[in-house]
Formats: sequence, structure tokens, C-alpha cells
Amino acid sequence: MTAPAMAPEPEPVPAEKVEAKSEPPSPPPLEAAKPAAPVEPVQAAPVQLAAAPVAPPSLEAATSGKSAPAWRARAVAPPAGAKPPFVAIIIDDAGLDRKNTARAIKMAGPLTISFMSYAHELAEQSAAARAAGHEVMLHLPMEPLDAKRNNPGPNALWLNLDEAELKRRLQWNLDRFDSYVGINNHMGSRFTADAPRMTLVMEEVSRRQIFWLDSLSGPKSVGSAIARKAGVDTAERDLFLDDERSPGIQHELAAMERIARARGDVIAIGHPHTSTLDALEKWIAGAKEKGFSLVPVSTVLLRRQQQER
Ligand SMILES: [Zn+2]
Repeated sequence: MTAPAMAPEPEPVPAEKVEAKSEPPSPPPLEAAKPAAPVEPVQAAPVQLAAAPVAPPSLEAATSGKSAPAWRARAVAPPAGAKPPFVAIIIDDAGLDRKNTARAIKMAGPLTISFMSYAHELAEQSAAARAAGHEVMLHLPMEPLDAKRNNPGPNALWLNLDEAELKRRLQWNLDRFDSYVGINNHMGSRFTADAPRMTLVMEEVSRRQIFWLDSLSGPKSVGSAIARKAGVDTAERDLFLDDERSPGIQHELAAMERIARARGDVIAIGHPHTSTLDALEKWIAGAKEKGFSLVPVSTVLLRRQQQER
């Protein structure tokens, strides 16, 4: 079964890339020594909610009855006066290319910056993003269908791992830093299609009271369905801005505008490529004039939840 319809992850393969092998994909070495060990020493610094604006204004009502999940306290409020159409832009794979990540953080927002779990100095990088007013997510690497071409990276979740190792890796990834509101999958077109494994993931996501944003890297993701079953807040991305198979970012930005106008909100995912940031900077500068409000992804998630009621 080929997967031509799948939206490929236009991932710049990280430096740690493992050579493609001809045998069936086996989990890459754990690299326990390298990224696992550093214990985020800076975490103690007073970097918490620095400049994050206060509680979301109108969306507070989203949770009725039961108490709000922990992620809500870390959510960045939409800018004052923000109104639909809402545009949420997630920058995936953040933290590996330090220069471009820093550039994305400097951009006008609020954006949502999803940090690759195995990037370094995530406490500092995520704190800088939050201090600049952006929302922060954790980008969780998972097995893709085309693992021979695209290695998801160290400590990724693979289907052939036993349950103990899968849980260990999950903990490793989710413990890399705090302050994130939710997670989304890096690659994962194979892994997210597996209901039992995704159930295991969602149990932990539920325990941590964070949300699941499905990147929809493959056509068969059960991520959102399993998340709902587990009582996890969830949303799905609408489009990739810089997919290598797309006709180009201007085309995608136009599609993003159409979706936002039609539905009142949109979730777009881009990557910290120079060309993407160039295009986004320009788009953001003119967004308000066109009537769009840039918001953190949590705003769109909550809005969609309210509409489902
Ligand atoms: Zn990714």
C-alpha cells in the first residue's frame, strides 16, 4: 500500500539522522547518554510565565462543569480585540535550527512554537518563546510510513517497541521541558494510525492534562478519535504551509485565508525554513488589514470545542 495522498512531512532531517537501512525499520539507538542526560539545569531560573498575557477573556466558558485541565493555565490569551477569522500558525520542528528558531520567536505573534523534543536547551528556548508572547508546544517524534527516507529521530515512538520501552520513551519526550500546552506529532504517519499504541500515548497525555494537536501527517490518523475517547482536548491542523509537494507557500497562505474566512478559524503548520519565515513575516504584517486575527492555537481549539457543544 503506497501513500501518495499522505501529506508528507517536509522535514529537514536532523543531524542525528540515522542512515537508511534496507532492513525493516528498527528503533534507532536510544542515545540515552546524549540528550537524555541533560537535566535542564536552567529550569530553576525565573523564566516561567514571563510575558504571557493573562487569562483568555471570552473563551473562559469553554469548560463547563468539570475543572479545566492544567494546560489552560499555560495557554496564551488571544490579543485584546481579536475576533474571527482566527489564524493559528504553528512552527513545528523548532529548536534544532537555533538561528531560525530565534528569528521565529522575534516575529510578531502570537504564534505557536512547537519544540522538537530532542532539541537542546529547551528550557531556555521555550522560555524565550513564551517571554515573547508565543504559545509553546512539544513536538513528539513518531514513526512515519517511509521510515527509510525519513528518520523521525532519537527516542521516537515506533510500533515495534515493546510497551515498557514505548512508555519510557514517551516519558523521556514529555519530560524534556514543561510550560507547553499540548503536543503534536512529528512525522508519525504510521504510528498515529495504530489505535492501541495511540491509546497508550493518550493515557499519558490525559494524565498530564495537555492537549493533542494532530498534525495529520498521514491519512489514517486515529489520534483525535482516541484523544476524545480518553477525554483529551484535541484539534487537527488544516494545512501545511511549506509542504515540499505543495505549489508554494503563497498558494498555501491563500488557502489558509480561504479556510479561515469560510470557517472562522484555521490551524496552519509551517517550519522554521528561511523561505517560510520570510513569507510569514510579510503575511503577518498585512494580516490585520485583511481582517485576520493571529491567535495561539489554544484559542482555536477552545473555539472549536464551544462550537461542538
Ligand atoms: Zn515535524
